[in-house]
Amino acid sequence: MSSTTDSPSIAFDNSYAALAPEFHQRLSPTPVSQPELMAINDALALHLGIDPESLRSSAGISMLAGNTVPDGATPLAMAYAGHQFGNWVPQLGDGRAILLGEVIGRDGVRYDIQLKGAGPTPFSRGGDGRNWIGPVLREYVLSEAMAALGVPTTRALAAVKTGDHVMREQGPLPGAILTRVARSHIRVGTFQYFTARQNHAAIEQLVQYVIKRHYPEAAQADVPALALLDAVIDAQASLIAHWQSIGFIHGVMNTDNSSISGDTIDYGPCAFMDDYSADKVFSSIDRGARYAYQNQPRIAQWNLVNFAQCLLPLFDEDKEEAVRLAQESINRFDERFIGYYLTLMRAKIGLADEKDDDLTLISALLNLMQTHSLDFTLTFRQLSQRSATDPFAPGGKLHDWHRSWLQRVGDDAAALEAATQLMQRSNPVIIPRNHQVEAMIDAAVRDGDLAPFEALLKAVTTPFDKAHDESDFAVPPSPDERVTQTFCGT
Ligand code: AMP
Ligand code: MG
Repeated sequence: MSSTTDSPSIAFDNSYAALAPEFHQRLSPTPVSQPELMAINDALALHLGIDPESLRSSAGISMLAGNTVPDGATPLAMAYAGHQFGNWVPQLGDGRAILLGEVIGRDGVRYDIQLKGAGPTPFSRGGDGRNWIGPVLREYVLSEAMAALGVPTTRALAAVKTGDHVMREQGPLPGAILTRVARSHIRVGTFQYFTARQNHAAIEQLVQYVIKRHYPEAAQADVPALALLDAVIDAQASLIAHWQSIGFIHGVMNTDNSSISGDTIDYGPCAFMDDYSADKVFSSIDRGARYAYQNQPRIAQWNLVNFAQCLLPLFDEDKEEAVRLAQESINRFDERFIGYYLTLMRAKIGLADEKDDDLTLISALLNLMQTHSLDFTLTFRQLSQRSATDPFAPGGKLHDWHRSWLQRVGDDAAALEAATQLMQRSNPVIIPRNHQVEAMIDAAVRDGDLAPFEALLKAVTTPFDKAHDESDFAVPPSPDERVTQTFCGT
């Protein structure tokens, strides 16, 4: 492996590599046989100050496949631990991801550039360090959809095929690498890794690093670590409220998949609901329904308790006082979550002001949607695009609810028009539906056909476009198209 001068010019400015050696293992990606481009995210490349054409060149593709390391990169695998489905695992780490380095985006924000599926690392624990087309295209579409929906998330910069096969339960599958961009890849599990090793110096270094990178205002607080906890609680409360408001189920909210910056990270068995049900689970491995839709706020809080535990020694010398302070912060999660949730859900039903009973009105709608197995995305869209045959119309299953809603909105033309405008801005027409995601993956794997991927990506990245109201992508699956389970098989 060599560094080449015709590699894309990327203004790396790497800070994680400068942390103490126990934070990471330095190593280069493992080369692959025949890199082939699948997708480049031009807008994101430009945002990062990278010429998208340079990524499309053979030197660019070689870099995205891990065959060459660009100038200025300091490739490494990050160390972390985590609770997986509630069970403590003292060492996880990047088993198949390699951080090339960081760049400062046009918004002044520092971004990680990471290759996911770039070969084994010292954290691979027997895994092959690889990825295949399915999860790569899935993460590409899902994460870009989330960004377009206004949900904090990691992004997809590029996807390449490797020309090699990877072995999974289904048999040999075409290998692929995703270039993932994130505000950082620091997780609750990164803190847990050092706490479990009683490495207080590392925790202090990590706290300082995270405050500087993500929450600089916390540095001014009396107890910066406590201000950091509050900021992360707030970011997570807002993130989960966003998930709930679009029917997104992450599916594997382990502490190692819980980001400190408050971004959605690790698109494994995640899925958007079609028909609404509060206890919906898609992941085949989530047998106890730990990560069901309605559990997401509670689980986020559980993850935050684990985060708080890592910071305890920095809150107060007195242990009891430290625990009291942590508890006080953690207890504020519910209130913050409900606040964010109400803001988002009010907008979804066109309410620009606040009244005490709004949560009751929203919950009543959700309960009816569950009783009648109504599609989450379509139902909200129908409320903003009324038609004579939708469930809100006379004789429809939601007609009585619609009457209470009209009372709340104010039954005059101006109020209705304002509500309609707000709802159309707040309710997507298009979400990446499971059956379409699977169909797009099938076409890519079976026929090497990327056209369905490209079409779906285009639709999900303009989710509020009214033109889509007539599109096939806006239509819920028919009963025989419905995908009810997603597999981790990554
Ligand atoms: P995830 O379920 O993707 O969050 O991964 C959990 C842990 O397993 C992380 O430490 C990953 O790096 C590791 N891992 C997942 N898939 C592989 C693989 N194919 N090879 C090596 N490590 C992996
Ligand atoms: Mg993970």
